[in-house]
Amino acid sequence: MRVIMLNGKDPYYPGEAVTVPDKAGRLLVREGLAQEVCPECGAVLVHESGCTSCYSCGFAKCG
Ligand SMILES: [Zn+2]
Repeated sequence: MRVIMLNGKDPYYPGEAVTVPDKAGRLLVREGLAQEVCPECGAVLVHESGCTSCYSCGFAKCG
């Protein structure tokens, strides 16, 4: 999954967009260290009704 690091955590820098394994990414998001972003356009994703949506380009994934 694509995330933007919110806090520096080796080897990443704050504000850096990186692609990480889904499992690692979910952990980073839960810990508040990163925010999931759209793999298509890089906008911040919105979680709703079990789906992850991008209001910017219409990308969505469910489950
Ligand atoms: Zn998008």
